Amino acid sequence: MTGSPPKWDSFFFVALLLLMPGCQWFSNPPMHKPDPHSYSNPHETRVDSLHLSLKVDFDAQTLSGSADWFLVAGHASVLILDTYGLDIHSVEGDGQALPFSLGTHDALLGQALEVSLHQPTERVRIHYSTRKGARALQWLPASQTEGGQHPYLFTQSQSILARTWIPCMDSPGQRFRYTAELDVPPGLLALMSAENPTETRADGRYSFRMNEPVPAYLMALAVGKLEFRSLGERTGVYAEPAMLERAVHEFADMEQMLSTTESLYGPYVWGRYDVLVLPPSFPFGGMENPRLTFATPTIITGDRSLVSLIAHELAHSWSGNLVTNATWDDFWLNEGFTVYVEMRIMEALYGSEYAAMLSAIAHADVLEEVKSLTLGGQEQKTRLAAHMRGEDPDDGVGPIAYDKGYHFLLLIEQTIGRARWDAFLKTYFHENAFKSMHTEAFLSRLDSLLSTEDERIIGVQEWVYGTGLPVNCPPPLSTRFAAVDSSLDLWRNGDPLALPSEIDAWSTHEWVYFIRQLDERDSLAAAELDRRFRFTGTPNAEIGCVWYQWVIRFAPSYGNQRLCSEAMAAYMTRIGRRKFIMPLYKALKETGQIDRARELYKQARPNYHSVASHSVDALLGWKEE
Ligand SMILES: [Zn+2]
Repeated sequence: MTGSPPKWDSFFFVALLLLMPGCQWFSNPPMHKPDPHSYSNPHETRVDSLHLSLKVDFDAQTLSGSADWFLVAGHASVLILDTYGLDIHSVEGDGQALPFSLGTHDALLGQALEVSLHQPTERVRIHYSTRKGARALQWLPASQTEGGQHPYLFTQSQSILARTWIPCMDSPGQRFRYTAELDVPPGLLALMSAENPTETRADGRYSFRMNEPVPAYLMALAVGKLEFRSLGERTGVYAEPAMLERAVHEFADMEQMLSTTESLYGPYVWGRYDVLVLPPSFPFGGMENPRLTFATPTIITGDRSLVSLIAHELAHSWSGNLVTNATWDDFWLNEGFTVYVEMRIMEALYGSEYAAMLSAIAHADVLEEVKSLTLGGQEQKTRLAAHMRGEDPDDGVGPIAYDKGYHFLLLIEQTIGRARWDAFLKTYFHENAFKSMHTEAFLSRLDSLLSTEDERIIGVQEWVYGTGLPVNCPPPLSTRFAAVDSSLDLWRNGDPLALPSEIDAWSTHEWVYFIRQLDERDSLAAAELDRRFRFTGTPNAEIGCVWYQWVIRFAPSYGNQRLCSEAMAAYMTRIGRRKFIMPLYKALKETGQIDRARELYKQARPNYHSVASHSVDALLGWKEE
């Protein structure tokens, strides 16, 4: 176990706060801690709600208009907001001009916007516009959409990119309600993380309302040629017309997912749950924007085998959106809980054997990550309680927060029994709804649940503050993967054409597990397998990702053949999901093919969202031309 004793830390911190004059932080319990990724001053001046009025200009690739911040009474004489690359034209307080200044620009955090306030001020209006290249915004030309006729805009605000399109307190610990008015080109539909229209308006003017308070990273906007289809009483899907039917088929179980999660963890409080299918350049699998999950089209495979991603984003409606990590150092509270809830939803809907496969994948992912970080001299990054000061919180998005977090919670479940753990979780979500949570506050709640003996068996402190993966990590137990292992043995030791018959019924997960185990021994036989199952050029992005990795690492001559080489280039150019493209660039780099990686990247980069291109830039040492 490493790290300082946390309970003493938080005691000291609370004592310090109590000594601070005029401290209001306790009016929004549970206790807050300073956010190293925000300039804002919520301990002095608190915001209640936001009204946005913006024009979406596809030609200039900018948003322009105003943000009205409504303040909580009793504020200080200054309001400090986060901004990044915004042009601030003027600021008014209750209709009168207010002096403001922008601080020094920091490459990670942007600039602090400091507004001097009259006492009292109810509303601060900021007239502003975004610039071309604002990092949250991805502007796609018509040619990069499914339909090919209309341009498309979508945002990705997590982790600290909301400030690149809205001047705001860009900290996950600060919540606000919002309304918005948008002016978009006629013929396009606009959507937000709010109550949404289902029909395109001829005049291009849309109004939005979000009645539940949300942190800035859940601010979201999409504009495109989109249509809506209902899937059930509270669920539906938005997509480009050419994608809609496939999406409807893929997400048929969504309404049932919603009611299943409610039966486990209490009422869904956000009204509707809809999914927007984005173009393939979306950098993540999904983004849990409240009321409207943004999802990658790479989960639409036709066989519903990747819908666990929807379960994951839906789970965020409890863990993350309802009870939110107070700072990005506590990110594992958002993601570890969400993976745990995702697994429970999948188990309830599709059975324990299916969920066990997903759990085994999570186990393999975290083992690999721990190994890679440890070998790379970054063992401290394997701690659940992170220290992200000075770093981009997006770099914390990975198997430690997600899968190590999940296994810790799974171990608690296995130690104290599911009934007690479920009752705890239900109360936890209910009592902390619309509040933020940091690691120490969670541990003190956990302390009230666990006996001393439980804590000793689990090793809570080691799990949260220690590095690596504790030895008592629950092992993977998947009978379906055990069957894949047997098939692999049979296949390696016999005639490669004589594959076991059950292989035809394998899900995406079984194929991914199988291909991940191939190495240089299998190159001849794998080529035969490719001819039979057509991995090269597969429309299934999960299979494509592991297949091309194998080709790059173990069968370079096969990978250099025209068919394979073209299919891989097309894959890496079309898909911008970071989880899929990063391993391929990494494999090319690690096998001495960095020139090829750079060549491919040059073609693909214009199609990537900044979240993805920032990661690949760093990996390949790319300098923007
Ligand atoms: Zn998540």
